[in-house]
Amino acid sequence: MIIGSGPAGLTAAIYGCRADLDPIVFMGTKYGGQLMVTSEVENFPGFPDPVLGPELMNRMKAQAERLGARLIQEDVVRVNFGTYPFEICTDSSVTKALAVILATGANPRRLNLESELKLMGKGVSNCAVCDGFFFRGKKVAVVGGGDAAMEEATFLTKFASQVQVIHRRDELRASAALKKEAFANPKISFVWDSVVTDVIGEGKVQGAKIRNVRTGEESVLTLDGLFVAIGYDPNTEIFRGQVELDARGYVSLRNGTESSVPGVFVAGDVHDFRYRQAITAAADGCKALLDAEKFVKQKLEAKVAI
Ligand code: NAP
Repeated sequence: MIIGSGPAGLTAAIYGCRADLDPIVFMGTKYGGQLMVTSEVENFPGFPDPVLGPELMNRMKAQAERLGARLIQEDVVRVNFGTYPFEICTDSSVTKALAVILATGANPRRLNLESELKLMGKGVSNCAVCDGFFFRGKKVAVVGGGDAAMEEATFLTKFASQVQVIHRRDELRASAALKKEAFANPKISFVWDSVVTDVIGEGKVQGAKIRNVRTGEESVLTLDGLFVAIGYDPNTEIFRGQVELDARGYVSLRNGTESSVPGVFVAGDVHDFRYRQAITAAADGCKALLDAEKFVKQKLEAKVAI
């Protein structure tokens, strides 16, 4: 059983079919993960021309379906990893599994602005590595004061003419090394004590309205891109108490793709707060399936009844 239908879950499904494991994918009611709100993808190998995020996910889904994966468009509401075979529960079913792959991903935190959502993929992004390339010679801003924001800002200076970091306080949360690197970069400037109250633009980002939280003063920054880097929330609530999570809620990894429960494997952003790429998630899905295959083989040899 695979829980999650982003690149990690669907790659696991593709490998699961090829291993004759009869995989079932619980896709969730919203299938496809973060690529469903991404526009052009230029860094996924095999696509010489840009491919739209939803198109890439539809292709992965079609590939998994063609190979025989059973795709269930329902949310998993509960899991029971304390029993074996494991149990995966939706509102309408309980399914037993010899091995489970957790691939539920993580959600980038949002500013919760309507305009942010409307312009997502049209200048608003959560991933400089994915989208920085499109901002050559342009003016961009990064929201946030943590490690991710500093990394994104520094990365973006390769392309953008100017990078403004908008942070809600006057002190960064980021580590000393990343702070130092950002402060030393002549293309990066800081807008302190400020929050974005609106993203401006019709069809593409043209600027951001910001408010100084100390003075209440409002102003407009002219921008071509806005990178929101205010953290991620892993989708692990249903796994709490079932597998070990780290302090931030990500699933803890043991050996390779193993979780704290033998037979429960992990792939993609649900454990990975570092790389967060479609290709690394897909690679994780492959690895988790290969590990799960070995586990299932041992169980079948031991004649576990399900
Ligand atoms: P983070 O450390 O939680 O930082 C989030 C930043 O966004 C904080 O500066 C926070 O402000 C700000 N923020 C949060 N909600 C906001 C909102 N609604 N509006 C405006 N600003 C908001 O998240 P992260 O930077 O993604 O890092 C996550 C974890 O991954 C961290 O443990 C980090 O060390 C690690 N990481 C490490 C590296 C590296 O070592 N190279 C790179 C990336 C991430 P406040 O500071 O005011 O709370």
